[in-house]
Amino acid sequence: MFELITLPFGKDELLPHMSSSTLDFHHGKHLQAYVTFVNDFVAKESSLQGKTLEEIVVLANSKSEWQGLFNNAGQIYNHNEFFKAIKKNENALPTGALLEKINSDFGSFEKFKEDFINAGKTQFGSGWVWLVLNNGKLEIKKYANAGNPLTDNLKGLLVCDVWEHAYYLDFQNRRPDFLTTFITNLVNWDYVAEKLK
Ligand code: MN
Repeated sequence: MFELITLPFGKDELLPHMSSSTLDFHHGKHLQAYVTFVNDFVAKESSLQGKTLEEIVVLANSKSEWQGLFNNAGQIYNHNEFFKAIKKNENALPTGALLEKINSDFGSFEKFKEDFINAGKTQFGSGWVWLVLNNGKLEIKKYANAGNPLTDNLKGLLVCDVWEHAYYLDFQNRRPDFLTTFITNLVNWDYVAEKLK
C-alpha cells in the first residue's frame, strides 16, 4: 500500500508564498486521490503487488490499457518529489557542486532560473517542469499531465507543479508569479544537491 507522504514542513510555514489552504487541497485532496486510485488498482492486479512506485510508473507506461494507472502513479511520483524539495528558503542559492554544475551547464544561476520559469510559462495546460540529469548534463524538461522523467530514464532533481491546483488559490491566473516565487523562495537546495550526488 502506498501512503500519502508526510509534508516536510508545517502547513503555515510557507507563508506568504504558499498558503495552508493550497496545501490542504493539493496534498490532502488531490494527492490523496491519486494514492487511493493506485492502491485500489494494485489491490485488484496481483502482478503489481510488491512493485515500487517507480516500477509501477514505468510498467503502466508500457500498456495502453493502464493509462489511468500511469496517470495516477505518475502524479504520486511527481507530487512526492515536488513536496520533498520544498521549504521556505527565501532568496536562497544553491551552493558547492550543485551551483558549479548549474553555472557550467546553464551559464549562470540567473539563466537557469529564467529557463526554468520560461519552461513553466510555456507548458500549455497542466504539467510539470523538471530539472533533470541527462547523460551527466543538467537540463530542464517540461512534461504534460502526469508525464515524468522516469519514462525517459532520466534522473529528476527538482520539479515544479504547474497544474492550476498548485497555485490558483494563491496566484489565480498568474502562473509566472508562482514559478518565480517557487524557484526564488521555496526550493530546498540542500535536498536537490543530495540528489545530484
Ligand atoms: Mn499538483
